[in-house]
Amino acid sequence: MDLALKNRIAVVTGGSSGIGLATARLLLADGARVAICGRDEARLSTAKSQLGNSDKLLAVRCDVLDAAAVKDFADKVAAWGSGHVDLLVNNAGQGRVSTFGDTSDQQWRDELELKFFSQILPIRAFRPLLEKSDAPAIVGVNSLLSVQPEPHMLCTSAARAGVQNLLKSLATEFAPRIRVNTVLLGLVDSGQWQRRFEARTDKSQSRDDWFASLAFQKHIPLGRLGQPEEAAKAIIFLGSPAASYINGASLEISGGVSRHI
Ligand code: NDP
Repeated sequence: MDLALKNRIAVVTGGSSGIGLATARLLLADGARVAICGRDEARLSTAKSQLGNSDKLLAVRCDVLDAAAVKDFADKVAAWGSGHVDLLVNNAGQGRVSTFGDTSDQQWRDELELKFFSQILPIRAFRPLLEKSDAPAIVGVNSLLSVQPEPHMLCTSAARAGVQNLLKSLATEFAPRIRVNTVLLGLVDSGQWQRRFEARTDKSQSRDDWFASLAFQKHIPLGRLGQPEEAAKAIIFLGSPAASYINGASLEISGGVSRHI
């Protein structure tokens, strides 16, 4: 199937690692022009070389929680591209492992700010550019935790549920101009799981064994974590003109780990 992404302009927040990096790679392979952002200059620069460092790629240092920096990112994308954006993938972020009992008020505020404003600020800054596209779309990278909360990730689950609600509303408010959809990720073997693997207490387990036992503990029917490219393929499809009648939808990418109908 032709996703009709050739020469389209896509923005991927958090495009310097994991799922965002894989999304940028697949978009470039499909002929799109891609702008990525992240906070860490060195990680961005490594991502740039991994992605081939061509004029089809723009990498900008930007914290998505800094409104002025996000506006500056949007201005740079407008000047680099053709003054419009076809696809915004709001992917930047990370999860917090904590229960109600061990989450401080400040940690709640930080988590709620990260989850909500990593969507709100890029959407506000890029919306005028999306309005200039003939097939604009937003894909919010969200988590299965939004509909299936986990007690050990309590505040992330609650924040994710709010984001799901927000993006569902935007699919109505922005219609019929801009389509808004979400992906609900289960466990994907990317940056944050790599960091948890590195911080493991039992260092005797190999990487393969650690990830295999994680998949077993989490009862993932497909028996393994997802790969970043597997999430990226779903993100790209939802954001492409090939998904022209899909709006307000959520696509689970979890290997079947969800328990609801
Ligand atoms: P990675 O850690 O591999 O990548 C996260 C990316 O986001 C990096 O490029 C990072 O760059 C960037 N980032 C983080 N915070 C900010 C910020 N404030 N401003 C700009 N960029 C930022 O994680 P994943 O690929 O695993 O995660 C991608 C998204 O998917 C996240 O939102 C995550 O919460 C979500 N998700 C992932 C799951 C998984 O199992 N992997 C499960 C459910 C949801 P830098 O640090 O340099 O800023």
